[in-house]
Amino acid sequence: MKVTILGSGTSTGVPMVGCNCRGCSSHDQRDKRTRASLLVQHEGRNILIDASTDLRFQALREGIERVDAVLFTHSHADHVNGIDDLRGFHFLHKEIIPCFGSHATLKTLLAGFRYIFHEHDGSGYTPLLQPQEVDGPFELFGLTVVPVPLQHGRTAALGFRIGAFAYLTDCNEIPPASMALLEGLEVLVVDGLRWNPHPFHFHIEAAIAATIPLKPVRTILTHLSHDVLFADGSVLPPGYEFACDGMTFDIHTA
Ligand SMILES: [Zn+2]
Ligand SMILES: [Zn+2]
Ligand SMILES: [Zn+2]
Repeated sequence: MKVTILGSGTSTGVPMVGCNCRGCSSHDQRDKRTRASLLVQHEGRNILIDASTDLRFQALREGIERVDAVLFTHSHADHVNGIDDLRGFHFLHKEIIPCFGSHATLKTLLAGFRYIFHEHDGSGYTPLLQPQEVDGPFELFGLTVVPVPLQHGRTAALGFRIGAFAYLTDCNEIPPASMALLEGLEVLVVDGLRWNPHPFHFHIEAAIAATIPLKPVRTILTHLSHDVLFADGSVLPPGYEFACDGMTFDIHTA
């Protein structure tokens, strides 16, 4: 199973419009961050986690030729606003793409993007996406996907564990029952927004404190703001590093 970090940035992207700070004016390509999302590839199938605002650009950059399923973590704009770009994949492979998410996430998506889930009255347009509510582990293309409930400020979000890999974007707390779902990871990709605390996201110190008990082999901090320079990852504890767009790694599957 191959994982690609399509986007490692917070909701504004980095650089942020109008900003000339140290992060936004960095010449290091690893500090250029599109909105957070991730691709899991396994036996010819492509599973997208979130349809970020930058989906089209990310798909062109990484040469993604099909999307077989989408897992939605939550319905914040930076994670869903690229949903319209899924049309292009459907036009090519003509398959209705299953979209997995919590009841609350799907409810918001169905209200905001009705045209892509439902047939247009009399227009001849057919549904391109099919909502699939998740309330526990499920099988997808020979992989077991485990939804991991997370706290994201005053709202809930889902992380996803697939084999020895887990993706926990957008969270500021991992509830005890979810910690139990995250043992024995090879790679954990987790929210680590910025250096200073934030009410809805783990900041770097909090992300490290929350994940140390899980002892993943490798922990990658993502959803990074313009506060963070990739090169400063050298100060992180052993086993921790910053994400960057286009980063890939392989996960052993049984
Ligand atoms: Zn976000
Ligand atoms: Zn900036
Ligand atoms: Zn969010």
